[in-house]
Amino acid sequence: MIHFIGAGPGAADLVTVRGAKLLGEADCIIYAGSLVNPALLDYKKDGCAVYDSASMTMEEVVAVMAENERAGKMTVRLHTGDPSLYGAIREQMDELDKLGIDYDVTPGVSAFSGAAAALCAEYTLPDVSQSVIITRMAGRTPVPEGEALHKMATHGCTMVLFLSTGLLEEVERELLAGGVYTKDTPAAIVYKATWPEQRVYRCTVGTLAQTARDNKVTKTALITIGGFLGDEYERSKLYDPEFTHGYREGKKS
Ligand code: SAH
Repeated sequence: MIHFIGAGPGAADLVTVRGAKLLGEADCIIYAGSLVNPALLDYKKDGCAVYDSASMTMEEVVAVMAENERAGKMTVRLHTGDPSLYGAIREQMDELDKLGIDYDVTPGVSAFSGAAAALCAEYTLPDVSQSVIITRMAGRTPVPEGEALHKMATHGCTMVLFLSTGLLEEVERELLAGGVYTKDTPAAIVYKATWPEQRVYRCTVGTLAQTARDNKVTKTALITIGGFLGDEYERSKLYDPEFTHGYREGKKS
C-alpha cells in the first residue's frame, strides 16, 4: 500500500495526526525535499528508507514504490501542503493503477491556509469577497487560456497565487488588465508560511514586484490579493445578535 500524505506548509507539527502516524509506520518515505521540511522525517521509525524526490523522475519514484510493494513494505509519499494542489499525484496514481498497486491519500494543510494564518486574515469577508481563486501565473508550465490571470482578475475576489513569485512584473500587469483591481488594491507576499523563517510583506498590487525585489524573495512564497487585506467589511450574519438561524433565536436590540 502506498500512502500519499500532505506534509502541511512547513512547520512539522502541522502534519495531520493520521499523516504523522503513517510516517511512523512507514518502511520507506519518499519526500519532496525541495519544499517539505526535513523535520518531518523525525516521525520515522528506525530503519526506514528515505528518498528525496527532488532529484528523481516520476519513473524513478514509481520504481521505488513498486520495489517496496513487491517486498511487502509500506511506502509513504510525502508531498508539500495538500497533495491535491500542484502536487503531481495524479500521474503517480495512474502508474500505480497500471501496476495494480493500491494507494490512498491523507490530506494536508495547504500553504494557502498557512499564509492566511501568517496574515491572521480571513479570505472570505462579508461584502468584500466570498470566493477565493487559487491559481498561478503561466510560466514554464502553461495555464489553460480560459484561466489566464487577466481573466481570473475580472472577478476582483480574493486571489492566492502559487508558483508565481519569479514573475511579479507580469502578475501586476495581468491583475490590472482585469480592470477591477487597482494599483492600490492591498496585496501581501507570504514567504515560507509556518516555517521558522516565515516572513510577511504587506504591499499593494502596484508594488508586488518591487516588494519582492527589495526583500529578495524569489521562491517559496504565496501572493495574496484583495480587499480582505483591507479594513472595510460587514459583520457576519452568523454571529449578529439580530439574526435568527437554526441554532439561535435573534433578538431585536
Ligand atoms: N501542494 C502545495 C503546493 C505545491 S506548489 C500546497 O498545497 O501548499 C509549490 C508552491 O507552493 C511554491 O512555489 C509556493 O508558491 C507555494 N508554497 C509552498 N509552501 C509554501 C509556504 N510554506 N509558504 C508560502 N508558499 C508556499
